[in-house]
Amino acid sequence: MAFTTHLEAAIDGTKLAHDRLQTTHEGRPLWVRYDLEAIGREVSRSDLIHRPSTMWRYRELLPVEDDANVVSLGEGMTPLLRADRLGAELGLRNLFIKDESQLPTGSFKSRGLAMAVSRAKELGATRLAIPTAGNAGGALAAYAARAGMEAWIFMPADTPEVNQAEAAYYGARAFLVDGLITDCGAIVREGTPHMGWWDVSTLKEPYRIEGKKTMGLELAEQFAWDLPDVILYPTGGGTGLIGMWKAFAELAALGWLDSDNRPRMVSCQAAGCAPIATAFEAGDRFAEPFPNAHTAASGLRVPAAVGDFMILDAVRESGGVAMAADEHRLLWWAQRASALEGISICPEAGACLGVLEEMVAQGAVDPEERVVIFNTGAAQKYLEVIRSQLPQLTTPVDWQALAAE
Ligand SMILES: *Cc1c(COP(=O)(O)O)cnc(C)c1O
Repeated sequence: MAFTTHLEAAIDGTKLAHDRLQTTHEGRPLWVRYDLEAIGREVSRSDLIHRPSTMWRYRELLPVEDDANVVSLGEGMTPLLRADRLGAELGLRNLFIKDESQLPTGSFKSRGLAMAVSRAKELGATRLAIPTAGNAGGALAAYAARAGMEAWIFMPADTPEVNQAEAAYYGARAFLVDGLITDCGAIVREGTPHMGWWDVSTLKEPYRIEGKKTMGLELAEQFAWDLPDVILYPTGGGTGLIGMWKAFAELAALGWLDSDNRPRMVSCQAAGCAPIATAFEAGDRFAEPFPNAHTAASGLRVPAAVGDFMILDAVRESGGVAMAADEHRLLWWAQRASALEGISICPEAGACLGVLEEMVAQGAVDPEERVVIFNTGAAQKYLEVIRSQLPQLTTPVDWQALAAE
């Protein structure tokens, strides 16, 4: 029961069949296209109210044909939390955090990989491979285990320790590579013809976008079909930003949005790896590979993104911007926001806060506007990073002295 009509090459509109495994076209990503008119006849937005609160509640707008192929760990819908104390510190009265840290495996990678693994299962793949900066590997390992498939995971040697451990813990074959995620990608490309892998890299297959698209669908529903004014998204490969922009277009075509208001999409990066922000600044549609990529926000350590033009197109169409946050500032904000709100804020979301601070200072955001920050992962997955931010814990030998402090 899917309404998929075909796949469409993002670079030139070429149509491709959706009933078999497809990768890229001219080395560039594919869109999944649906018969939106038929979807509009089948379901209305008020039907959603009675459905389970997982991302699969948007069933008709998703590409899995047979429910029996859905591989799920109960992902979505994540809370949209007001952040009044953090907002006050930034000079904003309507700041929200979409808290993706509560998803299976502690990051929003579970949305994309739940979808990619479900479709891979449906189309007959059994051996999945991925290059990863960290969280995608953990998510693939978990969903492959859930589906009874093999997962082969390649990550840079300096990937956070929790990511290294979780992949193996979920039974995947995990490897450390002396290099960046792009070097890991090269290994998967070279190995695929020999190993019979299905490569579920970011945007190298069409379905992870569809999983991440559900963030935009949830936001629309949580804001009662009147979208917020600004969305800040921490951008590595850009799947979520691209997916949300697609979600808003599909919802508009269905007539489900109450206002024409589309959010300004803000692509947030870290200064140590900012290819998209650099291309935006230069007015380019394609990004140059970023030299010497480094940042503690490991999910943002993507020096070259195959969907660069899709990110930049969405940002520009929306009237948004792409900006980078200073490394010290992003780490400081992640900890500060966690302490102010009790939410487990990852370094990547810290980059959004650093960019937001800058935008407020420039007058690019009005204090009354509804602003959403995506907290894409849980801080506890970055143990060595957050430890380095904090003082050593001590033993309370003398509570009377402490009471007098
Ligand atoms: C992967 C990741 C990102 C970047 O997501 P893209 O969709 O690749 O841009 C941001 N934050 C976290 C925590 C991640 O794991």
